[in-house]
Amino acid sequence: MLSIQENILLADYTTFKIGGPARYFAVIKNEEDLKQAVIFARAYSKNSFRFYFSRFCPKAYKKFLEIFSYFSKFFNSLRTKSEKISSKAVSQIGSEKSLPIYVLGGGSNLLISDEGVDGLVLKMEIKGVTWMSESQVIVGAGEVWDDLVEKTVEKGLYGLENLSGIPGTVGASVIQNIEAYGAEVSRSVETVEVFNKETLEIENLTNEQCNFNYRQSIFKTEKGKKYIVLKVIFNLAKQGKLNLEYKDVKNYLKENNLREDQVDIKKAREILLFVRRNKLPDLEQIGTAGSFFKLPVVDSETLSYIKEISPDMPHYRIDIGCKTSIQGEHKIPLGHLLEQFGWKGYKDGNVGIFEKHSLIVVNHGYGKSKDIKNLVAKITKDVKEKTGIDIEPEVVMW
Ligand SMILES: Cc1cc2nc3c(=O)[nH]c(=O)nc-3n(C[C@H](O)[C@H](O)[C@H](O)COP(=O)(O)OP(=O)(O)OC[C@H]3O[C@@H](n4cnc5c(N)ncnc54)[C@H](O)[C@@H]3O)c2cc1C
Repeated sequence: MLSIQENILLADYTTFKIGGPARYFAVIKNEEDLKQAVIFARAYSKNSFRFYFSRFCPKAYKKFLEIFSYFSKFFNSLRTKSEKISSKAVSQIGSEKSLPIYVLGGGSNLLISDEGVDGLVLKMEIKGVTWMSESQVIVGAGEVWDDLVEKTVEKGLYGLENLSGIPGTVGASVIQNIEAYGAEVSRSVETVEVFNKETLEIENLTNEQCNFNYRQSIFKTEKGKKYIVLKVIFNLAKQGKLNLEYKDVKNYLKENNLREDQVDIKKAREILLFVRRNKLPDLEQIGTAGSFFKLPVVDSETLSYIKEISPDMPHYRIDIGCKTSIQGEHKIPLGHLLEQFGWKGYKDGNVGIFEKHSLIVVNHGYGKSKDIKNLVAKITKDVKEKTGIDIEPEVVMW
């Protein structure tokens, strides 16, 4: 039976090591847990009979919902079309008073407020890695992302190798459409199996239906907020070409006297893990959620203006070699600008900017969510004043 705990400190579940308590908290190991948790949240309304009924007799409450649903459908079938109420009767019960649901993966892209969250936090731990064929695999949302990458690289399959070392879970990888070193997870996703919180049913979304874009997907839009990711089906390539084009990777090859043709997929992963270790904070020592901001995408006119401020700034057209790009626009390396504006290594009490990477906001130990937000507001204002660009957080805030 699903166990719902109260007042669980969320800081321990995030890589920022920041965040107050969750009013309710449940670990989700399978679809049935998820269904029960959503029903619990829907039944919630302070001091209501329904809430206590669902809390203390979950099985009986579920039966009650099924019977309610059956009779609603029956009575609906007797009504004229215009009178029909939604056939999703179960999902409507108590919805206006239901507890907000927050889905938690590895907590590596989250900033949670110091006050915590007044809702039900679902910690996704749905496991399972099932190979459907030599190159197609179904993976539970709660699997650790990098464990999956390791497995695919071990099998010599191409597609995920440049996404090595990214923290977090498989479920969240499609929410954020994680990307690194020229790779995006969306290019290897076949289908995403989701749980629909409104209908309590399982659906399968094709890659196209996921509407992937740069750090974006249907799941981050109003339309997709009803979905919780259960499983992801990946299609990997048995043959492929490694992308070793990035500056850090090229430097590694040069320093280690390696030619590109001497690098196989396992070596590529090893190099990327090395490069990342050298460039990013050690999560055992420093709290962070990785790059705090999205890279701004601007038109040619804005780019020319920024080039005047920062003539040596690299940039690239995002419609070149990128499946999910917007035609004619340019991605700006915000880190370069922040470095130029003096933010790299900046310290503000317990929080600051990492000394090796100016997009990375860090918690040095006792930082609070409000400290991070203050620092982020200062940076956002500075960039706006100097370039006219509105920068947006990449990190999700609760
Ligand atoms: C050191 C460091 C380096 C990083 N490097 C990169 C990088 O190179 N590239 C990159 O793209 N990202 C990077 N990130 C960001 C982060 O690792 C990814 O965004 C990752 O996918 C987040 O996974 P998570 O499981 O921790 O998600 P969480 O932080 O737990 O959640 C993130 C969002 O996804 C939602 N969510 C989680 N699981 C589910 C689910 N099953 N169903 C529905 N919604 C869900 C949450 O509600 C939340 O909105 C980095 C982070 C750190 C700390």
